[in-house]
This record gives sequence, structure tokens and C-alpha cells, in this order.
Amino acid sequence: MKIHFLGGARTVTGSCFYLEMPRLRVLVDCGMVQGEDDDATNRGHFAFTPSEIDLLFLTHAHIDHSGLIPRLVRDGFKGRIVTTTATADLVGFMLYDSAHIQESDAVWKTRKALRAGKPPVSPLYTADDVKAAISLFTKVPYGKTGHTGRGLNYRFLDAGHILGSGSLELWFQDSVEEKKILFSGDIGKKGNPILNDPSREADADYVVMESTYGNRLHKGMKETVDELVEVIEVTFRKGGNVIIPAFAIGRTQDILYVLNSLVREKRLSRIHVYVDSPLAEKATETYLAHPECFDEEAKRLLSAASLEDSIKLHFTHSVEESIALNGIRSGAIIIAGGGMCEGGRITHHLKHNLWRPECSVIFSGFQARGTLGRRIVDGARVVHIMGEEIAVRAGIYTLGGFSAHADRKELLEWLSAFRSSPRVFVVHGEAETSLAFADLVRERYHFTTIVPARGEAYEL
Ligand SMILES: [Zn+2]
Repeated sequence: MKIHFLGGARTVTGSCFYLEMPRLRVLVDCGMVQGEDDDATNRGHFAFTPSEIDLLFLTHAHIDHSGLIPRLVRDGFKGRIVTTTATADLVGFMLYDSAHIQESDAVWKTRKALRAGKPPVSPLYTADDVKAAISLFTKVPYGKTGHTGRGLNYRFLDAGHILGSGSLELWFQDSVEEKKILFSGDIGKKGNPILNDPSREADADYVVMESTYGNRLHKGMKETVDELVEVIEVTFRKGGNVIIPAFAIGRTQDILYVLNSLVREKRLSRIHVYVDSPLAEKATETYLAHPECFDEEAKRLLSAASLEDSIKLHFTHSVEESIALNGIRSGAIIIAGGGMCEGGRITHHLKHNLWRPECSVIFSGFQARGTLGRRIVDGARVVHIMGEEIAVRAGIYTLGGFSAHADRKELLEWLSAFRSSPRVFVVHGEAETSLAFADLVRERYHFTTIVPARGEAYEL
């Protein structure tokens, strides 16, 4: 087998691996690039011929792993897309939302282009492409081994990152014997408020492993929750709002769950929480429909009551409802996407609250290089939002404990389960992070480590 690292290599977004076997061509993930040069990269040529790919395995629904699937289908892919049951339930509306963004962007860019005497801009893909993609999905439950009948068997394990997220085990035949490659997918944090802890595997010949937080330690959940309570109390006392950029899937549900528990425990008074994302509302419904993915505590709490029994939870639907939130001066917690502040309704809330010293912005997820979120976290005093200069005066907080990713210690622990000595490809991290983590793995476990660059290929 030959593995090509086509995306998510020395960077965090755009995950895509291409496996060439004698009788089968396979992709693992087909994600969108976010941040620097994203549009040009997402529109660039695939490094393979889509019509020649037999199978695509999808590790989870996040757009940086799934976002180019509709383009793949439009460009000729006709194979099966294999993923877990919950991922298949989530990814459809994620992709429709993405297509909607692509289509509205194209309308806006075309208007600009025509005024400049340039040709119109076509969307990266459309809702029709998403519809065609969805017809190709095959759902498999966690733990069930599937057979392609062409020398490759597969199984998903719970990665504990977001609902439906999987690590993917693949067994293939090399010239002599059967070998196993394990794709970690995005690895969740232990003690995630809702989901099970990530599964750990004991053996593999090769591991392709994420390293998003390979150089950092998160604060514990208790400290994170204490800090959240303090930020909310201080902000409300000062007469401001708390703005939380969050991906529709995962973080939003975790934060709602924690806020709800805090009100029940009387650590916070009944607060108004606005989730300004139709996508997050659908994702929350999908979460509630999959209790089989919850840990015991969440199962108990969520079966007893829905999320809105303690906090005053408002989902906004129309653009008018979203705009109406701009009139709220204080006492609101507003959760909106995109998680890295690149487009989406969050940009409007930042425009209206970021310049106000009495407000706070809480970052709970990884902010990729080149994104507005990263610039704010890195301490920019002024940012540009929708063509307007906005001063950064609000309190900026990063609560890493809410991250959906394992930190350095947990990533190492995940590897410590191996009884074999796999060759480890370290991916899905910024270059310095992946290189430092690979060194650590080599020192600690004496495994051979490789940090592939984008476009590199290795014979397994
Ligand atoms: Zn993810």
C-alpha cells in the first residue's frame, strides 16, 4: 500500500489521505482548508482522479474533514462513503450549510467581479452536489468490522471527539502478510461533558495520528468551569455580554450542557443563552437522538430533562432574529458559529461587542493560523470585520478545557496503550507542534516517527 498525505499534514485543516492498493483506491477524509489561502487551495486540482476512487472513509463530521466531499462527487467520485451512524446523521446538514455559504459567497463575489469587468465566480459546490454526495453514504456502527471484498477490512472505534467521531482501523494485505494501519481521527479529551472517553488500541503496524495540541496542556475541567463562572459573573456585573464562537457540532452542546448543570447546581442564576446558529440547533437535536454515544452521567442527566430546563435557552432562526440580538446590551451569552470567526453569524456579534470593554469573548476551540479568531487570541488590538475597523477592548479568554481535542499528555497516553511498536505518522498539527510531538514520542516510546509534509507519499 502507498499512502499519500494530501492535507492536514503540517497543518490542522484540510484532512485528506489517499491510499493506493493493487485492487482498491481509498480516501480517508476529504476536508476543507480553512485559514490562509483557503479558497485557492479548496478550488485547486485533486492529486488523484476522483472517478478512480472506490471508497471514502469519513472519520467525523467537522468541515475540515468532510467539507470537500461534495466537490469530490461533482468531480466524478461515484464510490461509497463509509462512516459511523451518527456522523452520517450529522454530516448532511453540515454540508448543506456549507453549500449555502459557498453559493451566497459566489453571488457576492460575482457582483464584485462583474463591476470590475471580470468573469462571474461559480460556487465551490452547490446543494445539488451535497444531495448527490448524501446518496453515497453507508453507515456502520462502532466496533463492527466491515469487508470490502478486495483485500481491505475496516472498523470504527469511538474517538470521543464529537458525536459520531471515529478512529479508523484498516487491515490490508501487503506482499507477505496482513498489516494494520490505524487512523486516530481527531482524538477527544477524557472527561468530555457528554461523550465517552476515546477508545485506545493495543496494536497496529502503522498509526496516523493527530497532534493539534501536541505541545500544550489543557486546564482541567474543574478549573475551566470555575473560570467560565467567573467570566460570566464579572461580565454581567460590568453590564456586558459573553460571546462564545463555537463550532455547531460538539463544543456548542458541551457548553450548553455545562451551563445547564451550573444553573442546576445554583452556581449561576438562570441565564439567557442564545444559540445563534440554525445548524447548531439541528446538531443539538441530533445529539439528543444518539444517547448511545453518551457517557453514563450525560445519559442520566439528558434522559431526565432536556437542555432547556435550567438555562433560558433561545435558538434563533431567521436573519431578523439574529440581528435583533445586536440590540441586547448586557446579560446575554451568545453562542454562534463559525468556531474560528471566519464568516458566519459570529462576525456580527464580534462587530457589536468586541469594542466594548464590558464584554467578554470566550474561545473554546483551536484557532487556525490566518483566521480572525487566531488574530484576536494572539492579541491584536484592532481587527477588520466585514470591511470595518473594530477595536479589541472586550476581555479575551481561552478556555482550553472545553477543547474537543486531547492535549499533549492525553495524546501520549493514547499511544501508551500500544503493545506493538507502530511506525507513527504525526499529522493534523501546525509544523512546529507536530515536529515537537514526534520527538517526544520517539524519546518516550522509541517508536519510529515521521512528520509528513503535504504531498509526500510513503510505501507501507
Ligand atoms: Zn474535528
